[in-house]
Amino acid sequence: MSKILKFYRSREDYKELFAEPQRFKVYTERHIDKIAQIQRLPEEQRFAMHVVANVLPFRVNQYVIDELIDWTNIPEDPIFQLTFPQPDMLDPADFELMAETLKNSDDKIEIKRVAKRIRDKLNPHPAGQKNLNVPTQNNEELPGMQHKYRETVLFFPSQGQTCHSYCTFCFRWAQFIGDKELKIASNETQHLHKYLKAHKDVSDLLVTGGDPMVMKTKHMKQYLEPLLEKDFEHIQNIRIGTKAVSFWPQRFVTDEDAGELLALIERLIKAGKHVAIMNHFNHWREMETPIAVEAIRRLRATGAVLRSQSPLIRNINDDPDVWAKMWKMQTRLGIIPYYMFVERDTGAKNYFEVPLAKAWNIYHEAIKQVSGLSRTVRGPSMSATPGKIEIQGITEINDEKVFVCRFVQGRNPDWVQRPFFARYDENATWLDHLKPAFGEEKFFFEN
Ligand SMILES: *Cc1c(COP(=O)(O)O)cnc(C)c1O
Repeated sequence: MSKILKFYRSREDYKELFAEPQRFKVYTERHIDKIAQIQRLPEEQRFAMHVVANVLPFRVNQYVIDELIDWTNIPEDPIFQLTFPQPDMLDPADFELMAETLKNSDDKIEIKRVAKRIRDKLNPHPAGQKNLNVPTQNNEELPGMQHKYRETVLFFPSQGQTCHSYCTFCFRWAQFIGDKELKIASNETQHLHKYLKAHKDVSDLLVTGGDPMVMKTKHMKQYLEPLLEKDFEHIQNIRIGTKAVSFWPQRFVTDEDAGELLALIERLIKAGKHVAIMNHFNHWREMETPIAVEAIRRLRATGAVLRSQSPLIRNINDDPDVWAKMWKMQTRLGIIPYYMFVERDTGAKNYFEVPLAKAWNIYHEAIKQVSGLSRTVRGPSMSATPGKIEIQGITEINDEKVFVCRFVQGRNPDWVQRPFFARYDENATWLDHLKPAFGEEKFFFEN
């Protein structure tokens, strides 16, 4: 019997477990030696984790260590790859540079200086996030918001700019390195509400981070409850982007203010809003634990719609069977598969990236295994400067091998759904590697 079915048949057995608040214990670079000792990791690996964790953010919690990682399968285990620093995440020269710095110095300032030099080369804010999408009001920039697509405003509440654990491939990694210059966040409730009030063409608010579900419910309330007022009738859909079901399902089950959070969601829905919990899952393993299944059950019971999105990541989920199993489990659990993303051109991308051609093949091999209910998921999509571009397929037209592409979102709404063609390139990993097919000079959206 599957673990999920087993859970549903024996849910009563977990009652006590789900009644006890659990302590959130979190580990960072300082704790690497302790973890390595407990898990008996070799010395070389321990040191390499320090080297990488001094450049890229590292944070993991006890639940991930105890319930999600298979410590008999290190380093290949997908959840270990998802959360723990790996030596090849840095360019060999950069790795050497940081390794030498750590060996020769315990001067924190010097280590930070070297870290900054390496980070600056890693494209910390891809797709023009820092400059292109920041909305303004009365000629004043509103930090902590992005408004790229007409109908959707992204909001980054300042208390939600961290996560229960960090993903090694995170495209928002720059949020977590304590560099104020790079950080996008807002604690100005007023900014958000003023801006939304003035923009009646916005129908969707997408609360994101970090992970907004790290916030206390009382903060979430401050942002969301006012949306029930008449001035915000145009805000029909509230999406909350989160990885809490994976990294800390306790948020919805045993945390002190879990009940209050679920009640808040329910209240928004009863008032006529659509609340979508946009869950980030990378691997089906994240949905296997009884407490994750219970978190999903409780979220659904509020009336929220659960959807899922995930990037395709080498060393973590570059296998069609992993995706097929993940989508099947999600559909059974009541989560609608929504996006498969292409890993962004930032951070340790060389370690994680999958060529577009291979990405499409993985998507195709996976989607053909599932029923129509799971085929709601958009194929490999790149969130790039002009918009979200999906690779729809690979074909031949007049003897030329091409990628068939479309915008699923565009800076210009008129671009959406227009098919266009790029010359096939086996190695291309991102939009800027693609050339127009049929000898054309430019893509239609470049004019
Ligand atoms: C993906 C994304 C959205 C949401 O797009 P949908 O197609 O509505 O899911 C909104 N804003 C930004 C900046 C995005 O990247």
